[in-house]
Amino acid sequence: MAEQSLMDKIVSLAKRRGFVFPGSEIYGGLANSWDYGPLGVELKNNMKQRWWKRFVHEWDDMAGLDAALIMNPKVWEASGHTAHFTDPLVECKKCHARFRADHIDVREPCANCKAKDSFTEAYQFNLMLKTFLGPAEEKANVAYFRPETAQAMFVDFKNVLDTTRRKLPFGIAQIGKAFRNEITPGNFIFRTREFEQMEIEYFIKEADWKESFELWRKEMWGWMTDELGLKKEHVHELEVQDGDRAHYSKRTIDFEYDYPFGRKELYGLAYRGDFDLKNHFKEPPYRDAETNELSYPHVIEPTWGVDRSVLAVLCDAYAEEEGRVVLKLKPRLAPYKAAVFPLLANKPELVQKARIVCAELKKHFMVAWDERGNIGKRYYSQDEIGTPYCITIDFDTLENDTVTVRDRDTLKQERVAVVDLVSYIAGKLGV
Ligand code: ATP
Repeated sequence: MAEQSLMDKIVSLAKRRGFVFPGSEIYGGLANSWDYGPLGVELKNNMKQRWWKRFVHEWDDMAGLDAALIMNPKVWEASGHTAHFTDPLVECKKCHARFRADHIDVREPCANCKAKDSFTEAYQFNLMLKTFLGPAEEKANVAYFRPETAQAMFVDFKNVLDTTRRKLPFGIAQIGKAFRNEITPGNFIFRTREFEQMEIEYFIKEADWKESFELWRKEMWGWMTDELGLKKEHVHELEVQDGDRAHYSKRTIDFEYDYPFGRKELYGLAYRGDFDLKNHFKEPPYRDAETNELSYPHVIEPTWGVDRSVLAVLCDAYAEEEGRVVLKLKPRLAPYKAAVFPLLANKPELVQKARIVCAELKKHFMVAWDERGNIGKRYYSQDEIGTPYCITIDFDTLENDTVTVRDRDTLKQERVAVVDLVSYIAGKLGV
């Protein structure tokens, strides 16, 4: 499959089937903003729920947080974002197109108007998205939408500690929106100005940083391969070199994915030392229960972009085989876990029985209903959105209360008793 065409196919499938729509479309759109449609929101929610279960509920030492999107601007001064959260920007003097200086070769002609030697000197552009709190648009009321979820976990560190009485090591986890005034958003949902992150700040003793870094490195691989089902050969670690790392970080790894438009960052893992807590707390905020000593814990930060995960999963799951398009999503991520079909839509006894089966399954899973066209067309339609199991109610069902379950990947069909359907599907999903 040609690389570019894979991306085109995914964008078009996403729109046609209701995964992702262009934002504000009927008003001509809004520069690279995207809306998650009925199936996209399910896929994204499944992903976030799995992440929360895997890293918050299943851990003994993790605490969740859901902080405000707009924080006191002093947070961003202390964290260094006001001064340093910038990208180098160049502008073409002829057509005024703007680019990230580190994403283009400024000696080349402008990609927009082809003018030569037309770029301004690069200047540092702050990526925080500004707003005003209250009715007066004055400097004193300037506030920022958070550019990352991370800082709230440092700012609330003591509150979490006091209410959970945790001992090192322990983590704080958060899922939420972040905003960056990106100079050149693009590549579908890869780089947008509004996006979602899943982040953990894992607080440790300094001496343990290497061990903890390795632990999280393994956890991130487990998430990508076991949970998202990404093919191992499509993910790569990039060891961020000295000059490119934040000055306080002794080690950073970017996990990169082979997107159709190139190998690009999917997630990051950084050892941040005690930089953040020191920025926010004048006094050391942690007291060791045994030694009674006060200290600034050190931090390992694994960070996951939700939207980049959705895109990687769509790219990895997309396949064309035997005349069908199939999204081979991990069943737990699939928007619908099953689809229910009456064999013939014009036989009321089949439709009625199918409705009963569907209603029962809906108590447990997200289930689709389809009675249009023939069974082949219905399979085609469900394959395209990754539904792992299709259940057909036929005349035998009325006789012996069994149904046909067809597997999306193996195409095998099995006869399953209606009473066993819920446990059959739950077993396959591992829930
Ligand atoms: P990039 O170098 O691609 O701009 P970054 O290194 O600035 O990314 P981080 O600050 O490490 O990104 O953010 C953590 C994660 O948030 C990234 O690994 C990515 O998954 C996601 N992310 C960052 N910026 C965006 C964006 N503009 N749109 C969508 N996801 C993003």
